[in-house]
Amino acid sequence: MPFAKPVVLGNWKMNGLRADGIARVETLREHIRQASGQGTLGVCPPATLLTVLEQLLDNREILLGGQDCSSERQGAFTGDISADMLADAGCQLVIVGHSERRHGHGETDELVRAKAEAAVAAGLIPVLCIGETEAEWEDGETIQVLDGQLDGSLPENVTPDSLIIAYEPVWAIGTGRTPSTVDIARTHAHLRARLRELVPDGDQVRLLYGGSVKADNAREIMGVPEVDGVLVGGASLDAEQFWAIYTAGQAATT
Ligand code: PEP
Repeated sequence: MPFAKPVVLGNWKMNGLRADGIARVETLREHIRQASGQGTLGVCPPATLLTVLEQLLDNREILLGGQDCSSERQGAFTGDISADMLADAGCQLVIVGHSERRHGHGETDELVRAKAEAAVAAGLIPVLCIGETEAEWEDGETIQVLDGQLDGSLPENVTPDSLIIAYEPVWAIGTGRTPSTVDIARTHAHLRARLRELVPDGDQVRLLYGGSVKADNAREIMGVPEVDGVLVGGASLDAEQFWAIYTAGQAATT
């Protein structure tokens, strides 16, 4: 079964020491204890915090994810973390192909696909990120770029149970700018149509939007057709705001 909607995932990036991570997760758990309603909440902390947080999350009320994984299983790859290691540390998910990896570390579609396949082989769900740059957006190349990234980095033989896609315009990440809801709707409708062609039961693949989602735009964005949830960077560092995004998503999907 794919995750219940809304799927709201937090990417903490390279932020947070042990005390910050614990405090954030404790706040979220406190809210969950008092809340009702459907949905899926997850956090992707720095790798150093995974085993610390896993101990707080053993009943999986909040999913745990890595921010990247190696395409290799083991060996002489200094500094890399394998998908098996993430699974062993308690993860259910791993982000692959984030723009900070594609553009900051020169990751190609081919490498992103290999990472996504390594994740699936380890029993993790890859959160496969795709998105156009500002120049591509301005040149009207968004659909072409996304099709290329999807074709080039989608792992083989995936199902809606083993894959999440996140559309994240590079120019919207961390900038406070977002596409209009009309633009998000158009792009997600296109991605949904492609997923129907590429994945069995592609209608059910969880398709997230990411890029400057905050508490005050979350409901509007998650109300857009074919937006099943959001991947949140900066605003996920504030547990209260992250929770507000989640509840806004619940309100938008009911
Ligand atoms: C991200 O890094 O995946 C992201 C969406 O960042 P932000 O929410 O800060 O734009």
